Amino acid sequence: MTDDPLQDLVLDGNAVAGSLVDAFGEEMTATPGECASCGNVAPLAGLVAYTRGPGIVLRCPACTAVMIRIARTRQGIFVDVQGARGVAMPPAALRPIA
Ligand SMILES: [Zn+2]
Repeated sequence: MTDDPLQDLVLDGNAVAGSLVDAFGEEMTATPGECASCGNVAPLAGLVAYTRGPGIVLRCPACTAVMIRIARTRQGIFVDVQGARGVAMPPAALRPIA
């Protein structure tokens, strides 16, 4: 708890581990992601998570650029990774395309 109520809403990627599994199909918190804005590489658990909006926003811990957005709708889970230059998927997540 801090004196800044906005800071109290900020979590890290561990707080959204379940949503990352839903989005990517595998445990992803230890998976490194590279920020497309500044090139910082951090495990997804180390990203700054905002969860109070209509979806989840994960920001770079170095430059605060948006890296990943996850939204759950009636049609499914939408994942926007435009802010991530790369996310190294764990081998178990790589399945043949049917
Ligand atoms: Zn960055």
